[in-house]
Amino acid sequence: MTQNWDTLIIGAGAAGLAAGRKLFDAGQSILIVEARPRIGGRIWTDEAFADFPIDLGAEFIHGEEAATHALVAAAGFGTLDAPRKKKLQIGADGILYRVDQLPPPLAQTVRALFAAYADLAQQTWRHHDQSLADYLRTCGFDAQAIGLADVLLAQTCCASIETLSCADLAREMRVDHAGQQEFHIRQGYTALLQHYSRGLPIRLDCPVELVRWSTDGVEVVAGGEQLRAAHGIVTLPIGVLQSGTVRFEPPLPPAKTHAIAAFRMEPGTKLFYRFAERLWDDDLVYVCHTGLAARWWTPGYGRANAHVLCCFVTADRARRIDAMPEAAALALGLAEIGSLLGQPDLAKACVQAQRVCWAHEPFTRGAYAHTPPGAADARLHLAQPLANVLFFAGEATAHDTNPQTVHGAIESGWRAARQVLEQG
Ligand SMILES: Cc1cc2nc3c(=O)[nH]c(=O)nc-3n(C[C@H](O)[C@H](O)[C@H](O)COP(=O)(O)OP(=O)(O)OC[C@H]3O[C@@H](n4cnc5c(N)ncnc54)[C@H](O)[C@@H]3O)c2cc1C
Repeated sequence: MTQNWDTLIIGAGAAGLAAGRKLFDAGQSILIVEARPRIGGRIWTDEAFADFPIDLGAEFIHGEEAATHALVAAAGFGTLDAPRKKKLQIGADGILYRVDQLPPPLAQTVRALFAAYADLAQQTWRHHDQSLADYLRTCGFDAQAIGLADVLLAQTCCASIETLSCADLAREMRVDHAGQQEFHIRQGYTALLQHYSRGLPIRLDCPVELVRWSTDGVEVVAGGEQLRAAHGIVTLPIGVLQSGTVRFEPPLPPAKTHAIAAFRMEPGTKLFYRFAERLWDDDLVYVCHTGLAARWWTPGYGRANAHVLCCFVTADRARRIDAMPEAAALALGLAEIGSLLGQPDLAKACVQAQRVCWAHEPFTRGAYAHTPPGAADARLHLAQPLANVLFFAGEATAHDTNPQTVHGAIESGWRAARQVLEQG
């Protein structure tokens, strides 16, 4: 087989670009093949919606030590603090409370939920994994508390609390090296990736249909062309791998197909609202409540004149929001937050709104992947190379760091690049 490149990388998201950067800088000839007409994948910044960059997909850097900060510094960009945990507000009985001013019974429940959650890391789950909901039931929490935990803890993982594996959560807590603080990127995530990937050979608008692999190398069929290389790195989202739209010849072995099937990739949908003026408290960062549009924040926190609200709904709630006509979904979200903010006329002040449904994106098919009870090893199996020729990266493979994040995807890309370079 004539090989035109050392390594072909499938997907120009954070993982694919990170792998490409490392290999290119190490002197390899590479090609990144991307289905969309843009780079970034689940990173997608809208420059037109407001006077500042709006991240339609990934938005925060989760952690003061996250790998992303090195890229921000190298680009000469800046970050803004987004103190979501410190300034969390919870809506209950139609009232919005700061987390340190909750009425005593609710305060006690929230404290106990966070304590039980933190305790996950101390327990051995290997032989008796259970869902976060079942674990909280065994800790004595009632249905109401579990409903609140669903919003506070499971929605962040784009999962129903009934299907979220304790073993995987505990694994992540043990290996976490990113920290707890959160940030926005002043210039937006897309600008960061554009800077990071400058000079890399990327073929856009080129959906891969078939990956042939053997000990001799890799052949990728995309856009009517056959591309050949000594190695391949697959960074496809779980939703795409599960859809079967990309075929493998020979088929992936059972350990790999079982791992892919074990993940769940739930829908995730963002609702954005722009206002002519700020109609909420300067200090508003992050709101949770048990409505349908259950998690809210201010993407422009820390910026002047940035009057935008964002709601991010996941899993079942996102399924219900996605099933509505866009105008009805946007109206429902605004009515819920307007009522909690004591602003029943919030809708009248809204000058622009949009919904972004990640489940409807054919090259993503959901937001990010989680593992149900008993499937926590799926990340490790998905990450395993095949025949030292085909390598796997992407957020779902991030078993030694935080999956479901940009920095996890970046680290997974670096890992796959190291594995390729070890082949000599
Ligand atoms: C709404 C939302 C909010 C999020 N918020 C945050 C956040 O605040 N902070 C954070 O750290 N993370 C967040 N995440 C998660 C983060 O976006 C992902 O973990 C990360 O971007 C995944 O990178 P990746 O490279 O693994 O996958 P992707 O970015 O999905 O990259 C895979 C690439 O493969 C391409 N592709 C698909 N099919 C084909 C094909 N057939 N041929 C060729 N190419 C193909 C895709 O187009 C894509 O570019 C969020 C995600 C979503 C959806």
